[in-house]
Amino acid sequence: MCKLILINGTVITLDENNRIIEDGAVLIEEGKIVKIGLSSDLLVKCKKDVVEIIDADGGIILPGFINAHSHLYSAFARGMPLVGELPTNFLEILQEIWWKLDLALNEDDVYYSALISAVDAVKAGTTTIIDHHASPNFCMNSLKIISEALSKIGLRGCLSYEVSDRNGKDSALEGIDENIRHIEWCNNNKNPLISASFGLHASFTLSDDTLKLCTEKERKFKTGFHIHLAEGKIDVNDSKKKYGKSVVSRLKERGILSEKTIAAHCIHLNENDLNILYSTKTNVVHNPRSNMNNAVGVAPIIEMFDMGIRPGLGTDGMGMDMTKEVYTSWLLQNHRKVKPFSFSPDEAYQMLTYNNAKIASKYFPLKLGSMEVGNAADIIILDYKPTTPINSNNLFSHLLFGSETASVKDTIINGKIVMRDAKITTINELEVIKKTKNLASKLWKRLYLGKD
Ligand SMILES: [Zn+2]
Repeated sequence: MCKLILINGTVITLDENNRIIEDGAVLIEEGKIVKIGLSSDLLVKCKKDVVEIIDADGGIILPGFINAHSHLYSAFARGMPLVGELPTNFLEILQEIWWKLDLALNEDDVYYSALISAVDAVKAGTTTIIDHHASPNFCMNSLKIISEALSKIGLRGCLSYEVSDRNGKDSALEGIDENIRHIEWCNNNKNPLISASFGLHASFTLSDDTLKLCTEKERKFKTGFHIHLAEGKIDVNDSKKKYGKSVVSRLKERGILSEKTIAAHCIHLNENDLNILYSTKTNVVHNPRSNMNNAVGVAPIIEMFDMGIRPGLGTDGMGMDMTKEVYTSWLLQNHRKVKPFSFSPDEAYQMLTYNNAKIASKYFPLKLGSMEVGNAADIIILDYKPTTPINSNNLFSHLLFGSETASVKDTIINGKIVMRDAKITTINELEVIKKTKNLASKLWKRLYLGKD
């Protein structure tokens, strides 16, 4: 891979020292960051080796964002008509919308949902996603098809298939097989862009027998699990009623929680639950916009920070824009406490930057989410020119309040330019949109009329 240099920007390192380098530059080679410094220095030292130069034009050069819990397959729900009685609670939302949609997805839908969601990610400056997939009627090789879509765009993704008993035992077994097939594919192919976790839907759709089978299979690979946890009250009540314990206690006893397991949502928790999540080092991922959309409650993020849990941040299918997610998280925690400054912009951005970087780096060979020599070259350039002084103390306030006017100009993933001057370089976007409109229209007809 040729050398690429990004110049004339304010480089934000997001490493331990949180350095800000005015008029900075970053040199990239073989998918990695090889030098960080001043534009004038790096250009003189490296010019003869450099094949491509990207001028940040005074913007911000920073590590790409990470989405720690996404659902690529939700793409065709955008604008989807809802017919009949509207859902009135979380279970009805699942039954009437998501579980109908996932059953209707075919191979083309899975591929193009992933492709267009990956485009959204790149445009929003999201360079890595940790995805959770479901398409019960196209299960086998669904993660292979998604891997192909992500590779086509150039997006980095850790993929998993959600095992669930909600469609019967055979469907659960197919889900387990798909996770194992994908994990083995990742182990054999060493594709730097694609990795694997082991997906589980949620405690309330998983029997003890199925969980036992999953832990037996996962033990060989130690990928950890990716599961929804205490998202709705239904998850909590089901576990209490069937097993006489909280969801967190149940999952701990079943061997699901570990430092490689991702637990999305984590809303309805007691103090003991929080202690278990802390002691097992489980990766909690907060999804504020989805939680507000489903009206399922607010996760106790401030309490998690207080006790040393380091939650990450994900969109849970609500698009791919992490700046919107982090902004919402900050507003929501302050609103919940009815006390301003309960939750700071720094804490909100800590979830998106340091915590997500720590979580995602567990699934890929190179370190992600910070600008350090040897790290993965996943970098974005924001067209944001600070109009007030910027330093490492007020950086996250700048990003939080400035994001409304800051658009992503360029996105580089694994050292490759996947968006240049706000234009995707790896596919013809309009051609893909034509296809997705057509497929979504057919999918909606199948959902509501039972035919294409
Ligand atoms: Zn989810």
